[in-house]
Amino acid sequence: MNEKINLAERLSQIEPSPTLAVNAKAKALRAKGADVLNFSVGEPDFGTPEWVCAAGKRAIDDGFTRYTPVPGIVELREEIVKNYAAEHGWNYTPDQVQVSCGGKHGLYNMAQALFGPGDEVLVLAPYWVSYPAIIMLAGARPVIVPLSEDKNFDLDPEILKQYVTDRTRGIIINSPSNPTGSVLSLDSLGAIAAMARENNWVVISDDIYDTIYYADGMPSHILDADPGLTDQVMILNGVSKSYAMTGWRIGYALGPAHIIAAMNKIQSQSTSNPSSVAQKAALAAVAGGHDFAAMMTVAFRERLDYLLGEFAAMDGVTCVEPIGAFYVFPNFSAYYGRKAGERRIDGSVAMSEYLLDEALLATVPGAAFGSDAHVRFSFATSMDVLQQGMVRLKKALAAFNPG
Ligand SMILES: *Cc1c(COP(=O)(O)O)cnc(C)c1O
Repeated sequence: MNEKINLAERLSQIEPSPTLAVNAKAKALRAKGADVLNFSVGEPDFGTPEWVCAAGKRAIDDGFTRYTPVPGIVELREEIVKNYAAEHGWNYTPDQVQVSCGGKHGLYNMAQALFGPGDEVLVLAPYWVSYPAIIMLAGARPVIVPLSEDKNFDLDPEILKQYVTDRTRGIIINSPSNPTGSVLSLDSLGAIAAMARENNWVVISDDIYDTIYYADGMPSHILDADPGLTDQVMILNGVSKSYAMTGWRIGYALGPAHIIAAMNKIQSQSTSNPSSVAQKAALAAVAGGHDFAAMMTVAFRERLDYLLGEFAAMDGVTCVEPIGAFYVFPNFSAYYGRKAGERRIDGSVAMSEYLLDEALLATVPGAAFGSDAHVRFSFATSMDVLQQGMVRLKKALAAFNPG
């Protein structure tokens, strides 16, 4: 077909989300009858709690089906504020909260409100796939700061400093992290807070996995490291992961009122508001506490322990132990440069393709997260699938020629 209409220049900078793409390829293969085991899933394998669904149904039956206020219904924002006060002692007001069409959309609104051409935003790698794209769509430049597997993907502040310029406007942190499951220590959060103060950065804290946490209590937060930094911190959270509500598309942001107001201006001219029905369901969810997340976390922990045992026993594979979220990020670089049959594996994309073609295992190449040594495996899938998957993985790795 003759493409008469040119696309906007900004499209040339970004790629479609690779995690969603792998998922689509795995589903397509499965639709053709292939017995694909899907380790690429970025969402809990649990259904949305019944009581949350009931609240959504009730909203429909009650005719709660019209536009809502741009930042989201006030009851939901009040409940979010109440939870943050109760759980962390942080005092936000409802006008410091925006509810958006998923957490990803909240980050998008934030970047549109805060960054533009000439601005640089620090992104720690391995990073969530959408951060660089969201920054670029705002016209700004993501600056990738590598974290080291040797330090369990915690931050070395001296390395961070090397990437700071007079154009640096902020940093995005994600702890527990997708894809590594690692957390930032209170010390490194303190170092980030100190640099943010010194340079007037905004710190975007993506806390979407804060309830899926394998250590005691809650993960350390930038506001634990520096409680006085609230006028420079944007919190991003949502119900997608904590309440298995990915399809409902509800996320929320908390931060300084003038930034939230700017985000509301953008939302008012783009999506108007998130779905009224989904907001009522999210209200039931966030009013319902963390028992559901705790239940999922117990199941995830059992699967994680199994996987860590398997990876530890595999030749040439290293794997940092995740402290949260539902992904493991093993390092397969010992296999790079070697051949499996006729196929030479030169990086994570080739490795993932090999695993999909030869072992029918759908994974996400680490390159998508800015870390080519690794491949991401989600364990948001049943123990049975994990066990079958590890049998296939061991067989696939055994097919490599000696390195
Ligand atoms: C899943 C996820 C989000 C938010 O997802 P939504 O479905 O848009 O709410 C945000 N950050 C990270 C790191 C995630 O993995």
